[in-house]
Amino acid sequence: MKSENNYQILKSQKTKLGNPIELISSSLFTLHSSLIIGVFHGDEPQGKFLIEEYLKKSPKQNLLFIPCLNPDGLELKKRTNANEVDLNRNFPTKNWELTEKNEFFGGETPASEIETQFLIDIIKEYKPKLILTLHAPFKVVNYDGPARAQAEKISEIIHYPVEESIGYPTPGSFGTFAGIERQIPTITLELDEICPVEDLLKPVHQIFDIL
Ligand SMILES: [Zn+2]
Repeated sequence: MKSENNYQILKSQKTKLGNPIELISSSLFTLHSSLIIGVFHGDEPQGKFLIEEYLKKSPKQNLLFIPCLNPDGLELKKRTNANEVDLNRNFPTKNWELTEKNEFFGGETPASEIETQFLIDIIKEYKPKLILTLHAPFKVVNYDGPARAQAEKISEIIHYPVEESIGYPTPGSFGTFAGIERQIPTITLELDEICPVEDLLKPVHQIFDIL
């Protein structure tokens, strides 16, 4: 059966370099839907491709997507955004701190970045019941907050081990912001970057289907 690509842009924001960040869904009834986010880090492009391919076939109706949170980093082929900030250290958590300027720099102030603010606003407005972020290259299903059961289901599909994110400090991380401090089940799926990205289509789309 042929499907219609009737998804729509619910929200859009221009970045420093003028690239759009978009929130997309195929449904208008998106309150408490799961939210899937690609390209937190510009040098991890897999998520955008995997989400866009999913939207081309017959997407599950009640999911929210940000295919590319960091289009400037993607354009510049680097981890950070155009301001040299690691978005995954820029969230206003209790443990946010001003750090030295390296590739994990968390910004001059918490939530200083357009990309961070865009995502915070979406969480406030749409109250997702679960959040999945797509990263690379560690081949692990990492989780924060009450997400153990979902992380195990994802692990069964993609055959990466489950790991709770504890043990090393990640001040200002998205997992701490959403998962630990707001108790939204938050899963960080670290994909294989060695294998062709096409090989990830089947397992990752199966994962989207169960969220
Ligand atoms: Zn990453």
